Amino acid sequence: MSIQQNYEILRKEVPSHVTIIAAVKTRTVNEVERAIDAGVVDVGENYVQEAAKLREALGEKASRVRWHMIGHLQTNKINKALKIFDMIQTVDSIEQAESIHRRAANNQKVIPVLIEINSGGELSKSGLKPEDEPVEHLVRAAAKMKSIRVDGIMTMGPLFENPERMRPYFRKTRNIFQRIRSLGIEGVQFNTLSMGMSDSYRVAIEEGSTMIRVGTLLFGPRY
Ligand SMILES: *Cc1c(COP(=O)(O)O)cnc(C)c1O
Repeated sequence: MSIQQNYEILRKEVPSHVTIIAAVKTRTVNEVERAIDAGVVDVGENYVQEAAKLREALGEKASRVRWHMIGHLQTNKINKALKIFDMIQTVDSIEQAESIHRRAANNQKVIPVLIEINSGGELSKSGLKPEDEPVEHLVRAAAKMKSIRVDGIMTMGPLFENPERMRPYFRKTRNIFQRIRSLGIEGVQFNTLSMGMSDSYRVAIEEGSTMIRVGTLLFGPRY
């Protein structure tokens, strides 16, 4: 099936309050262009440099969509990332939040961010411990930084063949999300929960996701 058909089917299936991010790592300019033409309005990239190249090649079309940083962001790439992305989904320390805040302030910007949680506690993955306390600590600190806006939480979770096995990790993340939201911290909206990928988006939505990130489902397998 075409990218357009894949997107249309998914958009119909997924509730309208759930944002669909097209995860475009390794995809060609042409593929991304077809996704935008099909109606995709949110694009996710894992690398600053790749996103810069894509935006450049897409020209005017690039500004029709919102760009999400969904990979680990290195400190020396923050300035460039601020020019390219509308949201950074991978903030996982106060130091990093502070670095982004300072640079955004210099550019007279306010950048929306999500806190990344390592819900499976995997050594290979970045993100905060999946517990209330460290997340609350970071959100309270970030709430005072006027050039970032903390909108919610993002998680990858461990990958399993069977998406049902991801449910406990999504549920744990959702519980942390709701707990933090219920605190009503000043300056914090906390209405975005980014979780679920091609194999797991259904389970993630059942567990409260408001934003899914899909690559394979739209574009086919990565080689
Ligand atoms: C690649 C990627 C996705 C999408 O993965 P698929 O399995 O292709 O849907 C989602 N989120 C992040 C952070 C990714 O790196």
